[in-house]
Amino acid sequence: MTVSGECFCGEIAYEIAGVLRDARSCHCSRCRKAFSSQASAYALVESDEFRWVAGEQLLTSYVGEHGFGLQFCSKCGSTLCGIYEGLVHGVTLGCVNGDPDIEIGKHIFADSKATWEVLPEGVPIYSEDAPVTD
Ligand SMILES: [Zn+2]
Ligand SMILES: [Zn+2]
Repeated sequence: MTVSGECFCGEIAYEIAGVLRDARSCHCSRCRKAFSSQASAYALVESDEFRWVAGEQLLTSYVGEHGFGLQFCSKCGSTLCGIYEGLVHGVTLGCVNGDPDIEIGKHIFADSKATWEVLPEGVPIYSEDAPVTD
């Protein structure tokens, strides 16, 4: 399957020749700032299945501690993907087009959530990180 995504202004677009994995929403204070939202919404990709199809020259990167970073559109500000040591590590679900055939499987660091956020019901919620299953 091919998953595609683009930023708000549409100048930057990507395709993934594969599936999204391990979709999660993290409610920690860092993710709230990075995603400008109540939580992250993020799924992992295989970096060699990911390619930019338009606007790559408009990408700006912010790399934080430990080699993890985010790439966003310098024109409209959408955050498109996460990078690790220069390779695409995952995508922000908000910029994915259509139905990528995945649902958020876990909500993590719920104990750090913003006071104003109401957590969803009927989904796996972990106070800190989720236990490793694989
Ligand atoms: Zn844009
Ligand atoms: Zn987080």
